Amino acid sequence: MPDFDVLVIGSGPGGQKAAIAAAKLGRRVAVIDRPDMVGGVSLHTGTIPSKTLREAVLYLTGLSQRDLYGQSYRLKEDITVGDLTARTEHVVNREVDVVRNQLSRNHVALCTGTARFVDAHTLALCEPGGEERLLSAEHIVIATGTRPARPDRVEFDGQTIMDSDNVLSLERVPRSMVIVGAGVIGMEYASMFAALGSKITVVDKRPGMLDMCDVEVIEALRYHLRDLAVTFRFGETVSAVERHPRGTLTVLESGKKIPADAVMYSAGRQGVTDGLDLGKAGLSADRRGRITVDEHYRTEVPHIYAVGDVIGFPALAATSMEQGRAAAYHACGEPVGQMHSLQPIGIYTIPEISFVGRTEDQLTQDSVPFEVGISRYRELARGQILGDSHGMLKLLVSPDDRKLLGVHCFGTGATELIHIGQTVMGCGGTVDYLVDAVFNYPTLAESYKVAALDATNKIRQIDRLGDA
Ligand SMILES: Cc1cc2nc3c(=O)[nH]c(=O)nc-3n(C[C@H](O)[C@H](O)[C@H](O)COP(=O)(O)OP(=O)(O)OC[C@H]3O[C@@H](n4cnc5c(N)ncnc54)[C@H](O)[C@@H]3O)c2cc1C
Repeated sequence: MPDFDVLVIGSGPGGQKAAIAAAKLGRRVAVIDRPDMVGGVSLHTGTIPSKTLREAVLYLTGLSQRDLYGQSYRLKEDITVGDLTARTEHVVNREVDVVRNQLSRNHVALCTGTARFVDAHTLALCEPGGEERLLSAEHIVIATGTRPARPDRVEFDGQTIMDSDNVLSLERVPRSMVIVGAGVIGMEYASMFAALGSKITVVDKRPGMLDMCDVEVIEALRYHLRDLAVTFRFGETVSAVERHPRGTLTVLESGKKIPADAVMYSAGRQGVTDGLDLGKAGLSADRRGRITVDEHYRTEVPHIYAVGDVIGFPALAATSMEQGRAAAYHACGEPVGQMHSLQPIGIYTIPEISFVGRTEDQLTQDSVPFEVGISRYRELARGQILGDSHGMLKLLVSPDDRKLLGVHCFGTGATELIHIGQTVMGCGGTVDYLVDAVFNYPTLAESYKVAALDATNKIRQIDRLGDA
C-alpha cells in the first residue's frame, strides 16, 4: 500500500486547498514544502505581503485622505522600510499560523523539504538536514507555482537591481526606480512606490499597460500615476542595465538613458518545475516551465494532477484554490462542477481596478451592441464621505435582453464591489434588477443603481426614437 492516498507538492493556495479537500473526503494526505515557505509564494512574496504593503502605504502616506485634508496631508513624514515591513511581517506570521493550523486540524501531514520524482508514484523528499526519504502515493498533485523570470543579460543583486521577490527585503525606499514590465505586478508596485514619493519610470515594449482592462479605466489610472510623477516609456525595449557606485542606469534601445537608485524587473514568471525530475514520472514542462493539464487538472499521466500558477493562465490565488479543490475531488472520485467561466480580475494598483465580463473594445470587435451606464463616486454621498472623487463604476448592458455584458470598476473598494456585478451576471440577472433594488445608503454599492439608471435611460431614449 502506498504511504499516502494523495501527496501534494507545494503549500500555496492550490496545494493547500487540494490537500484539505482530499483530507475532508477521508483520504490520507501529505503536503511537501520548504520550512520557510509554508503558505507558498502567495503568502511569502506574492499576494499577501504585496497587498499588506499596499495597505501600509495607503495608511502611512495618507494618500486616500488628501482630497479631504489637503495635498500636504501625511500620517508620517519619513516612511522607512521598517514602518512598512512591520505590518507585512505581522500579517504573514499570522497567516502562516492559520495555514499550519488548517492543515493539522484536517490531519494533513506537513513534510518539510523539497520533492522530486523517483517514479510516477514515488517522490524523494530532501529534508532540510540533507537526509532523503521516499514517499509514495496513489495520486500526486503538483502545485509548485512560479518564480520571477530573470533575463540572463541582467545582473541582479537583489537591492539595486531586483525582481518582485526582492522588493520585500529592500533596505530603504529608493528615491527613484525604473520598473521594467507594465503588467499587473509591475503596475501594482509602481503605484505603491510612487505613493511613497519615489520617482518612478515604467518601461515596457508593449504600447501600453494592462491591456485586458477597460480603456477609460486605464486612462484614469495613467492620469493618477502621472500626478504622482510616474513617467511612462511604452514601446521601448531595455538594452542594458548598468550598476554604478551611485545608482543604476537603464539604457533603452532607442538610446534613452534613465538614471535611478534601483531597477525592478517584472517581466513574467517561470514555472518551478526544473528540480522536479518530471521525466522520471513520464512528464514534461514547456519552455516556461509550465505543465499541460486537461479539464480535470490531470497531466498526461492520469493519476498526477497539476494546479495553480504552474499550469499558467490565469495564475491567480483565487483560481489556484479552486483548481486545487477540483483536482482533489476528481482524484478522490467525488463529483465536481466546472469552474464558472465568469471570473473577476482584481488589480491592486492605487487606485484599484476590478472587472468582470467583457470590455467595450471586445464587444465592439465582436459586433455585440451594448449601452454604457456610468456612476462616478463624486456623485455618491459615500464617495464624498470617503474623499474619493475619481472612482467610477461602468456597466455594459445588452440593449436586446438587458443583461450585463461587463462591469468595470475603478477606485476605492473596486475589488470588493465587483462581486455584486459578478453575482448578477452569473445568475443571469438583468440591469432592471439593479434599477429596482434598494441599496444601503450611503454606500459605494449604490453606484450599481446609479449606473443601471444611466444605462436604462439611454436605452429608453433609443427605443423612443425607434417608436416615433
Ligand atoms: C507580487 C505578487 C502579487 C500577487 N498578487 C496577487 C493578488 O493580488 N491576487 C491574486 O489572486 N494573486 C496574486 N498573485 C498571484 C498568486 O500569488 C499566485 O497565483 C498563487 O500564489 C499561486 O498559488 P500556487 O498554488 O500555484 O502556489 P504558490 O503560491 O506559487 O506556491 C508554490 C509553493 O510550492 C513550493 N515548491 C516548489 N517546488 C517545490 C518542490 N520541489 N518541493 C516542495 N515544494 C516546492 C514553493 O516553495 C511554494 O511554497 C500575486 C503574485 C505576486 C508574485
